[in-house]
Amino acid sequence: MTVLNVSSIQRFSTGDGPGIRTTVFLKGCNLRCPWCHNPESISKKTETLIYPGTHRAVTYGKTMSLEELFDDVIEDIDFYRESGGGVTVSGGEPLLQPVGVGELARRLRSVGISTLVDTAGCVPWENFLCVADHVDTFYYDVKTADGALYENVVRGDKALVFGNLGRLVEAGKDVAVRIPLIPGFNMSGADHEKIYGELKKTGARRVDLLPFHRLGSSKYEAMGLTYGYKDTPPPEEAKIEKIKKIYEDGFIVRIEK
Ligand code: SF4
Repeated sequence: MTVLNVSSIQRFSTGDGPGIRTTVFLKGCNLRCPWCHNPESISKKTETLIYPGTHRAVTYGKTMSLEELFDDVIEDIDFYRESGGGVTVSGGEPLLQPVGVGELARRLRSVGISTLVDTAGCVPWENFLCVADHVDTFYYDVKTADGALYENVVRGDKALVFGNLGRLVEAGKDVAVRIPLIPGFNMSGADHEKIYGELKKTGARRVDLLPFHRLGSSKYEAMGLTYGYKDTPPPEEAKIEKIKKIYEDGFIVRIEK
């Protein structure tokens, strides 16, 4: 029986792809971005967060069979159809559970529901092969083009991330590259000239810029962790626009608000 380790399920989500969607957040991530907005999805273990002040307790992490998950997300099929929406699988890193994600996407597609997978791409290419035929769109996170930063800060592998991206584009998949704009990490023009150059080699065409925000702060508090970005303000509008201009002559660029 195929099972998935689900962190949480968000219904009527409008920020994780087109139309009205259900976003399934899977638990477990192999990267360690210090600004992560979903810290509760990094560990594979089930965790209960107690939000200070409210004493609200929320448990993240539940093993669900494929059938259970399919039956759950299919409930909103009318909304997906009306709005051009569908189901997004995010995380964590969803492609650490490639068999379950591929099977879920295959079943959803067989009843006409579109699927989107949000990945940071730092997994073996074989994991993409499990899902690629069944997924309509990939959101593909690129954090930097600096190999040392990938390795030392994010704990990823630049060559693997850009290599998989190139193969995915070459395979004709619909891919939107998603770049978080993180103060102190990748906000200079030189950072983005370098990413631009690497992206051009992959053949990607769409770039979404995601300015840093602090909406994940309360989760860190609820986990008893110190959030290194607690006092970091979001990047200034002018800086975001400057970065957007770098990508504009080579890509279709969007700033996610
Ligand atoms: S890849 Fe995503 S989920 Fe994983 S640590 Fe980075 S921001 Fe968090």
